[in-house]
Amino acid sequence: MTGTERIMMTLRGQKADRVPTMLHAFMPAAAEAGLSMAEYRSSAKNIARAHIDFVHKYGLDGILPDVDTCLLAGAVGTKIDLPEHEPARPVGPASTNIKELLELMDPARVAKDERIKILVEAIHLMRKEVGGEILIRGHCDQMAFSLTMIAYGMQRFLMDLTDEDREEDILALLERAYLVHLEFQKMMMDAGADITGFGDSSSGPALISRAMFKKFALPFHKKLQAELARRNILTVCHICGNVDIIAEDMADIGYAAVEIDQKTDIPLAAEVFRGKSVVFGPIDPSGMFFFGTPAKMAAEVRRVLDCFHGKGIVIGAGCAIPSGAPEANIRAFVEAARAYSL
Ligand SMILES: [Zn+2]
Repeated sequence: MTGTERIMMTLRGQKADRVPTMLHAFMPAAAEAGLSMAEYRSSAKNIARAHIDFVHKYGLDGILPDVDTCLLAGAVGTKIDLPEHEPARPVGPASTNIKELLELMDPARVAKDERIKILVEAIHLMRKEVGGEILIRGHCDQMAFSLTMIAYGMQRFLMDLTDEDREEDILALLERAYLVHLEFQKMMMDAGADITGFGDSSSGPALISRAMFKKFALPFHKKLQAELARRNILTVCHICGNVDIIAEDMADIGYAAVEIDQKTDIPLAAEVFRGKSVVFGPIDPSGMFFFGTPAKMAAEVRRVLDCFHGKGIVIGAGCAIPSGAPEANIRAFVEAARAYSL
């Protein structure tokens, strides 16, 4: 059974030969390929090479070729800093004027953006080389809420969310951001991704209440899922941080999969998402992959898989693994997942 088959069967609710593995590992993959973050993100060939070599080295079932969390934000005009040795990060809003930002949130800008073109080309190259063997997840950061927050400015955005007079404008912005995101999803699938994924962690309980999540984030997630279902696109919704209080809302969206991290109550998540969404993650990228030991990792993999009885899970890291995570920990992760009998 190939990695692609193993993950696709799990996503369809069927039993694979073993628990599939996949890692949010663009930083270690680039580092192990000897590439700085700048060299990695500026070349489709480098991105493809780094990930293909990484999954082959460790025997993983899928690739998650991420570059940073501000690709779409940059495409709509957010000011981006591009450090040589770190992932890119936003440093200033695209516009603080709602009318202007509504114009900037134009889906047509996505296909024209140079950084997005590079990632999409990387998907195409990976498809040609390992398509059908290794599952390729086209990561489309970010979804409407997180994208709007970065493009408009976090403080202003959070203040406006509590201002009833601003509600209509904010919902209009979120709607445009949703359309920008959807465009990226289509491009990823056209380039040859097997499934897609995206982050919307800013809409999680670390920043906003459940009531706000239900008002400003959930409707767009439901809309996205309805549209993706119509197009037969399976996606993974990544919200890291503790999602306990919105887990049921997330499960009701009906996404093929959700990606959560160790801050969430894992036995509760196993219960809530069972039969609704496959869970990706939730191993601690820092505490386990970076600072852990092979023995601790093996015990954690078993603990997590016991919560799920080995079903409905693609085990991996709950968020991005820092570069420098010891090889022994990554190998212990893969071995423990393989050893876990279904
Ligand atoms: Zn995350």
